[in-house]
Amino acid sequence: MSFIQPIILPAYCQQSSRDQYQIDMYRGDLEHPNAPGNKWHKLQHHLKTAEQQNASVIATFGGPFSNHLHAFGKTLKPLPFKAVAVVRGELQPQLTPSLKDMADDGVELWPSSRSDYRLAMNSPLVMEINHHFGDVYWIPEGGGGVLGAMGCRDWANDIGALDNGYDAWVVSSGTGTTAAGLLSNLNTPDLHVFSALKGEPAQRDVILGLAEELSSESMGQKQLDAKLFFHFDCHEGGYAKHSPALIDFMRAFAVANPNSPLDPVYTCKSMFAIIKAMDSGIWPYRRTLFIHTGGLQGWRGYSKQTNPYVHS
Ligand SMILES: *Cc1c(COP(=O)(O)O)cnc(C)c1O
Repeated sequence: MSFIQPIILPAYCQQSSRDQYQIDMYRGDLEHPNAPGNKWHKLQHHLKTAEQQNASVIATFGGPFSNHLHAFGKTLKPLPFKAVAVVRGELQPQLTPSLKDMADDGVELWPSSRSDYRLAMNSPLVMEINHHFGDVYWIPEGGGGVLGAMGCRDWANDIGALDNGYDAWVVSSGTGTTAAGLLSNLNTPDLHVFSALKGEPAQRDVILGLAEELSSESMGQKQLDAKLFFHFDCHEGGYAKHSPALIDFMRAFAVANPNSPLDPVYTCKSMFAIIKAMDSGIWPYRRTLFIHTGGLQGWRGYSKQTNPYVHS
């Protein structure tokens, strides 16, 4: 199997856009059978650092459907660390599928009130966990920070080695860590980043700053700035929400590409945005690589009727 596969434009698209554009997908969703997508990459340098610091416990944060928490559980399962997760909100007696997997993988779950959760590293709960276990290595929510981005810089290097002939790459963003890592890689072409969040136009500067911290001397801020295209208005109603137009798009996309499922929070929105631009003929590149960041386990938080990849 090749990790780069062609995408077929949905049936409603004009023939002229079909002729004009080539879009391929890097199947990050097919990497690491238990922990696919960007989150595995974001964890790698954190894990190395935890090992160097001789930590025996690694802890992190996330919501009850979090792709980060899920990948954290799967990635740590075979490793000699105790895994602890601070989960946003009350734990329901019936755990979400994501949390159930984590419990099965041996992760200790600590529920956190929403107000406590917002305090992150400054919350009383974190103090309690540190006190309880002694030396704890903490990974920020979503696996972010410089170390998270560094793992995505390595990822960009691996992807570019498969085919470096694209005019542009496309990726989704939440915290922007993944985008920053990809951008900081010397050989990454123009990078179009689509935010899954509503009202975060300032994230562009965060991505740029983080990429600058990571990039080699040979690439200055100007060069990074010129390569980065940040789209903050493609959230289709907000984080994890679906507009009627997006739902229609996902159905049409699934019919054309039944073996290339999009996730419900991130990749569906960036794919919708670029196919819209291609269909109107304004997408300025011929060969585009769409980086699939995984997250398919997130469909378990939606009803079966919304999921165009389930046939019941
Ligand atoms: C977390 C996630 C993202 C966003 O990654 P950031 O590094 O936070 O920007 C994108 N796609 C999927 C599927 C994710 O799970």
